[in-house]
Amino acid sequence: MGKLFGTFGVRGIVNRELTPELAYKLGLALATHLGGTGTVAIGRDNRTSGEMFEQAVAAGLMAGGCDVLRLGLTPTPVLSFAVRYFSCDAGVIITASHNPAEYNGIKFLGSDGAGFERERETEIEKIVEENGKTVSWEKCGKSSTADAIEPYVRNLLTKIPKFERKLKVVVDCGNAVGALVTPYILRELGCEVISMNSQLDGTFPARKLEPVPENLGELSKAVVACEADVGIAHDGDADRTAIVDENGEILMGDRTFAIAALHYLRGRRNPKIITTVATSSVIDDVAERLGGSVVRTKVGEPEIVGEYKRNGGDIGGEENGGVLFFDWTPCRDGIMTAVQFLAELAESGLKVSELNNTLPKYYQVKMRIECPHELKQRVMEVLRNKFSGERICTIDGVRVDFEDGWFIVRPSGTEPIFRCFAEAKTPERAKELAEIGMRELKSCLSGL
Ligand code: MG
Repeated sequence: MGKLFGTFGVRGIVNRELTPELAYKLGLALATHLGGTGTVAIGRDNRTSGEMFEQAVAAGLMAGGCDVLRLGLTPTPVLSFAVRYFSCDAGVIITASHNPAEYNGIKFLGSDGAGFERERETEIEKIVEENGKTVSWEKCGKSSTADAIEPYVRNLLTKIPKFERKLKVVVDCGNAVGALVTPYILRELGCEVISMNSQLDGTFPARKLEPVPENLGELSKAVVACEADVGIAHDGDADRTAIVDENGEILMGDRTFAIAALHYLRGRRNPKIITTVATSSVIDDVAERLGGSVVRTKVGEPEIVGEYKRNGGDIGGEENGGVLFFDWTPCRDGIMTAVQFLAELAESGLKVSELNNTLPKYYQVKMRIECPHELKQRVMEVLRNKFSGERICTIDGVRVDFEDGWFIVRPSGTEPIFRCFAEAKTPERAKELAEIGMRELKSCLSGL
């Protein structure tokens, strides 16, 4: 058996790559890993296969001696909250996030509500391969149920006062579990909420789940047609949020992160922001404004959480709009992201586009080039030598910083390509920097 866990747990097409048998084995392996004792919270998104996997994982856990607390339909950040709220020893979230309806996934969380580190996943993989340990009949685990959404909402509302300005908000949860939480919280905060795609439907008929511009055309139109102040969209498990301004324009993920960070961190002493090497310089501007600092990591949520666990921090975020509020939950929380963004919007008295324009504007250009997997390491070495002496950062890929912008070239972890991503204060310069990166990549590839 090869590596089971990808970047976001075990994920695959239902009954082909991800089967109930495997789900059972994973549940049993987790119980074995926990020493055949303790309580594990299980939550799931509303995919058609969710209940099947919930039952299979629960059976494995109970066969291995763990009790299970079934939370039913649960956005990922709510599960993260619930693991600590109910003092569980671990959590299992059954979701494929932004992937299509035919996928599902299984991801483990520790007792702190953060995703398992790579080492713990490797340990689980090993146990699955060797088969976990079942317990004797009198030690089988018990099952109970609880509602995690009510305490999540109640606790979140203690963190944020009702908005003084009445915002008109269109919320598009894509027929997924975010619809169980976000519209209600926003109403409690005093917003006028117009919900679209809020009926749960595990076939996700309305739109693709990834909250990116090409999937949010209907939301853009609805915001304009309703003359709303703002639009909000989640992915399938509501750990990510996209914001639509009053003109129907979708904000880049790092702008959403930046504005949520401004609100969340205001008033803190020397706040520390953790983000990846691929996030916009707008985060540096936010840190400067708040008298704080930025620490950059490799790309990916586990990298951000790892830095937080090792060295602390206040907020973490990615360029795709995933934000982690560390004294709330150590996992991306799209619901809290929406709340913090709207709080900033309400307090500013501005429109979304105006609020966005209070931050410096950057232009970004993305390019890619094919490169066989086996050449990637060699290309990286050549590039590192080529740019040594310049302002480079090699935490992940090779990032070269200039006075007026930067570019980064990184090999894709899954596809046989290199990506080149550039940012600058003018579109011309961003294109120029991306082309410099591409030129180096090409000459490097032709030399091999
Ligand atoms: Mg997600």
